[in-house]
Amino acid sequence: MPCSREELERREGQWLAPYAQRSTETRGRAHAEPPPEWRTHYQRDRDRIIHSRAFRRLEYKTQVFLNGTGDHLRTRLTHTMEVAAIARNIARALRLNEDLAEAIALAHDLGHAPFGHTGEEVLDRLMRRHGGFEHNRQSLRIVEELEQKYPGFPGLNLTWEVREGLAKHRPKPPPPGSPRAGAQTPERQPSLEAQVADLADEIAYYSHDLDDGLEAGLLTEARLEREVRLWRRSARQVREQHGALPDECRRFFTVRCLIENQVRDVVRHTEARLQKARVDSLVAVRRRARPLVGYGEQQRRWNLELRRYLYRNLYYHPAVHDVNTRAARSLGALFNHYLEHARHLAAQLGRCPAVRRPRALCDYLAGMTDRYVLHECRRLLGEESVSAPGLFPSQSPRGS
Ligand code: MG
Repeated sequence: MPCSREELERREGQWLAPYAQRSTETRGRAHAEPPPEWRTHYQRDRDRIIHSRAFRRLEYKTQVFLNGTGDHLRTRLTHTMEVAAIARNIARALRLNEDLAEAIALAHDLGHAPFGHTGEEVLDRLMRRHGGFEHNRQSLRIVEELEQKYPGFPGLNLTWEVREGLAKHRPKPPPPGSPRAGAQTPERQPSLEAQVADLADEIAYYSHDLDDGLEAGLLTEARLEREVRLWRRSARQVREQHGALPDECRRFFTVRCLIENQVRDVVRHTEARLQKARVDSLVAVRRRARPLVGYGEQQRRWNLELRRYLYRNLYYHPAVHDVNTRAARSLGALFNHYLEHARHLAAQLGRCPAVRRPRALCDYLAGMTDRYVLHECRRLLGEESVSAPGLFPSQSPRGS
């Protein structure tokens, strides 16, 4: 006999901590639907996200290095998968709802513009007089409105809790149906699962950006060991446990230790905070003035040091930033071209009143992959707006 949703929910009830979000206690979906048969609500959400078009496009969007410039470098998709893996790991350790944390993690960057943060800045500038552009808000727009797949509703009709996790620090989405229970008590924090997904994003990008910087030859282990305490600690651990390792294995294992150290720190300190504050329910989590999921003090300081290092030595390195800036300029060129030649976009702008055209265009451009932007630029403007960037020489043997 197949395992029913009811059985899954019963097991979930036995397993989860009292402050976890239970799928039986979801605030539901904006559009009423029959419940899933063999999955919990959050498992259904996760599957809808993976089956979305926006999710597939993440494969061809830049994380840090321009998409397509290195076969081993992270893309927005592999970044997302690493975030989901870390979020699941922390959620499980804290007995939180792993499916919810995973769904939020998988959807958290759906709204990212092509060409990473440089692309986001360009779109925000272009949209300054029309409400701006911000990728978290765009992730919400995608799952609430822009994906068109289901006959009964726009978007993916995800549960309130997943949408809450995507809203980050902005006002929460309105609850479906009746006024929110307990509305007289301000809800200042999202679920712990949302907090976990948020932190997992940070853990993932710190560690894989380091790894990619080394892979591309823009960072060196020797300098990292001298200047970044997080790296030094992990490198020492690897030496103590494994002695001298071959280059690639040492680098991989140091990054792996770095992730593990951060995950351990978050689990330990979050657990301690929950106990100290005697948090015994999700209501208590939501009423807290500050998030409960987080690093200990030392780890937080060391992360800040790493962050500053990455900004100084990687994110604004000409090999990264100049290439992305040149590529992102093509977004601006396309935006203006489409505005002037709306006939090229009959499907997107056809019946759109003039006042709403900039937002419709912004949605269209933000949804593009890096390579599609460059393709459209060549096709419509005859421009080679970014000279085909070469591949970063791989520091490790190909095919490994
Ligand atoms: Mg992210």
